[in-house]
Amino acid sequence: MDIQNYTADFLDRLAKRDPAQKVFQQAVKEVVGSLAPVLKQYPKYIKEKILDRILEPERIIIFRVPWRDDKGEIHVNRGFRVQYNSALGPYKGGIRFHETVTQDALKFLAFEQTFKNSLTTLPLGGGKGGSDFDTRGKSDNEVMRFCHSFINELYHHIGYHTDVPAGDLGCGAREIGYMFGQYKKLTNDFTGAFTGKKPNWGGSLLRPEATGYGVAYFAQNMLATRGDSLEGKTAIVSGTGNVGIYTIEKLTALGAKVVGFMDYDGSIYDKDGVDEEKLAFLKDLVFVRRGSLKEYAAKFPAAQFRPGQKTWDIPCQIACPTACENELHTADAKTLVANGCLCLAEGSNMPCTPGAIDVFQNAHVLYSPGKASNAGGVAVSGLEMTQNSMRIYWTREEVDAYLQRIMRSIHDSCLSAAEHFGMKGDYMAGANIAGFIKVADAMIDQGLV
Ligand code: GLU
Repeated sequence: MDIQNYTADFLDRLAKRDPAQKVFQQAVKEVVGSLAPVLKQYPKYIKEKILDRILEPERIIIFRVPWRDDKGEIHVNRGFRVQYNSALGPYKGGIRFHETVTQDALKFLAFEQTFKNSLTTLPLGGGKGGSDFDTRGKSDNEVMRFCHSFINELYHHIGYHTDVPAGDLGCGAREIGYMFGQYKKLTNDFTGAFTGKKPNWGGSLLRPEATGYGVAYFAQNMLATRGDSLEGKTAIVSGTGNVGIYTIEKLTALGAKVVGFMDYDGSIYDKDGVDEEKLAFLKDLVFVRRGSLKEYAAKFPAAQFRPGQKTWDIPCQIACPTACENELHTADAKTLVANGCLCLAEGSNMPCTPGAIDVFQNAHVLYSPGKASNAGGVAVSGLEMTQNSMRIYWTREEVDAYLQRIMRSIHDSCLSAAEHFGMKGDYMAGANIAGFIKVADAMIDQGLV
């Protein structure tokens, strides 16, 4: 069988089936594009129709989320949970609260999550959920009422051995707290059915930091393959949410100088780099006061605030997109390469467009896909589940040692899968192949379900 025709025909059928699901198709195309040598070497995946089976989520739940604002007015949002694949363990993945949330976006994120979770080496299936509700501009009470209403339906479908949600964009410790509280109230069951809980009532130390720290560790591992390190490198990070802030923190701790970052209003160019004092200010600004980066420039006059502008034109050697999907385009990639970027580690899910990835790979930039380099967050979620099962807490040092080991193992399995299938040094192909094989083999073992 001609493999190229087989995959082309497959992608064609996919596009016809759900023509409006553009980001899902983009994510699938990237994975399927890496699989030709695997399908060639192992015809069992074609015989078993694994692509057709893996590309269909096991279940999608869509529900109404009614809630009342502080003035007493009623609002109705739409809630989703995509239970994508449970071949390796209970569905696992975050909850996104943002106005851009649609079934397409969550299907793409759940698909990515399935392969990411497979790469962590932990027993986790893949899922994702959320709502088109935006937490920005809402009071704590409004967020609480919304989260309770969201769980009034979702609690039927989740559970410690079934589906374990966590945070994502717009959903942090506050929202997890409200959702867990309502889940516990309705089920009368204190189990670790969520991760990202606060450490004083069941959360793991280092969970908030884990995704960002993992991105920096992954970049460090990639640079080491060229005998290089983060020491003395200039870096930029795009978003300043949870992932962005802790990526900045760990890059700085490992010797890099972070000179650029951004939020919804614009970007900061701080040629002196972020230090301990600036980082403390940033954390307070973002996590406590939920303010704008304009205040950073007002506080540290050497830093320049650039309204409405992204970070990609700021010269750097290391770049970590940490905001959202498709945030970095072909032209941005060309600018980064022209300015001397040598390593791009994705912190968000699918932030680089296909054209941008081509630019990085053709220029031999060390490029890692999000499903590999941002897997530290869900990996520590897996460790949170382990600690909950054992009813113990590990120290920060213990969790960090696991995290470093897992990031190293993801890095190495990407490289060895890529090399084995004739694409040496291609982290994207390696991540797709290593993630796919584990899920596909488990599906075959478990029969046609
Ligand atoms: N939302 C995060 C991700 O994209 C974390 C998911 C989790 O911890 O379950 O990987």
